[in-house]
Amino acid sequence: SELPADPDETNEVRQVKNALFSYVNPTKPSSPKLIHASEEVAQLVGITPDEIQSESFLNVFSGKEILPETRPYAMCYAGHQFGNWAGQLGDGRAINLTEVEHENQFFTLQLKGAGKTPYSRTADGLAVLRSSVREYLCAEAMYHLGVPTTRSLSLMLSGDEVLRDILYNGNPAYEKGAIVCRVAPSFIRFGSFEMLTARNELKNLKQFIEYTIKHYFPEIKGEPTEQYLKFFKTVADKTREMILHWQRVGFVHGVMNTDNMSIHGITIDYGPYGWLENYDPNWTPNTTDSQNRRYRFGNQPQIAQWNLYQLANAIYPLINEAKPLEDILESFITDFNTDYKTMFLSKLGLFTSTETDSALMTNLETVLQVSETDMTIFFRNLSKVQKLDSVEKAMKKIQNAFYIPEEISLEILESWTKWFSVYLERLKVEDLSDDARAEKMNLINPKYVLRNYMSQLAIDAADQGDYSLINELFLLLQKPYEEQPEFEKWFAKRPDWARSKVGCSM
Ligand code: AMP
Ligand code: MG
Ligand code: MG
Repeated sequence: SELPADPDETNEVRQVKNALFSYVNPTKPSSPKLIHASEEVAQLVGITPDEIQSESFLNVFSGKEILPETRPYAMCYAGHQFGNWAGQLGDGRAINLTEVEHENQFFTLQLKGAGKTPYSRTADGLAVLRSSVREYLCAEAMYHLGVPTTRSLSLMLSGDEVLRDILYNGNPAYEKGAIVCRVAPSFIRFGSFEMLTARNELKNLKQFIEYTIKHYFPEIKGEPTEQYLKFFKTVADKTREMILHWQRVGFVHGVMNTDNMSIHGITIDYGPYGWLENYDPNWTPNTTDSQNRRYRFGNQPQIAQWNLYQLANAIYPLINEAKPLEDILESFITDFNTDYKTMFLSKLGLFTSTETDSALMTNLETVLQVSETDMTIFFRNLSKVQKLDSVEKAMKKIQNAFYIPEEISLEILESWTKWFSVYLERLKVEDLSDDARAEKMNLINPKYVLRNYMSQLAIDAADQGDYSLINELFLLLQKPYEEQPEFEKWFAKRPDWARSKVGCSM
């Protein structure tokens, strides 16, 4: 299609037909400042540590300058939001700068918060420091936990103010604007496919799926229909693995709309995410979802399947046969349940299986909930339990995970006693020694996760111009499974002041 003469003029808000992207340049920030950059991610895309300190790094990853021979663009996609069809959405505040090939790997570099695009609708295309710190730190924390995710290259201040709230007295509350550069193989979403099908652009749909397979899934071969089905199966498998990791580490995404689902099965778009503190499958960090709790922790596998259903509908016109798609959707949940059981038992240090294991799991999930027990601390400390421990001794080792120990009733204590007596017997069936089991468990159950209060402390300090906590958390979360005595203070339950705090989205 026709290229506009001046990309600066292309950011007016509009419906974009017959295209999956629009050229658009970032808005120039007034005085950008680098807060943090990941040397590891820089190296991944071919940028040296020295280059990070350069003027050109600052300018390019704040949107002030465009790299030579590149043409930034925003992507057009649609999506189902909270279960409802939302039509065209697109990158309202994300701009892809360029794609990079380094050491035979492909990366897309994307700025978030760099100004309006044709898809900004009524919003400003910007991001505030608070949400940018949360996204920047969390993506890297997830990566080091072994969870598939976008990566974070850099976090910058734009030097401009962003309006997010009007105070009760009618005065505007300005916040510092920020820009994150995130990195992924591509930012193609389930909603990219939904966009074309909803507009009945079937020729484009076919071209797009073929492009996607050729560039990002080159291992897929065969007849066209066979390829499309293999593509769908691959996306389903990768999504399943991602959700399994979320459940393992206690991550709640918070906005699993189909426009926030990557075809690579990586976690994207860190908005009002959160980490389970007290184990509660009904918990969601998203305040706008507190009624239905659609995106609650325990519902993430079902939602992933629902979202895959929408992707299946989107590619159906190219396949014209429902059965093979339905089979993949069905096996998604049965496979998930099998994997979930293996994963959950491995968190308990159980690497074989016995007939009573399902009951052991269910009983634990119940008792964890009713006693308000910290998920991370419980599983981490469980590795200290030994086969020959008495029930009392074993329970002492995990009691630090209870939020309000003095409020635990005798009845709940009795359930714990019962659970531990079964668990200790069950441990004896495992061949591994106590030490070997603990070592394995400690690679499955992280010691450090990015609790909301930790981000909040880092954000408050950063707002005052002190970035030392961002740096400290960044370092801490690079080794989430290792003992880090100098950082022991972060192996702690949420403090009382953070009890009702939830994530934020904007
Ligand atoms: P999200 O729920 O964060 O995935 O956002 C849903 C849609 O709103 C996407 O199309 C975003 O690009 C868009 N959006 C969110 N925040 C902004 C903003 N500040 N300016 C423009 N678009 C936005
Ligand atoms: Mg999004
Ligand atoms: Mg978002």
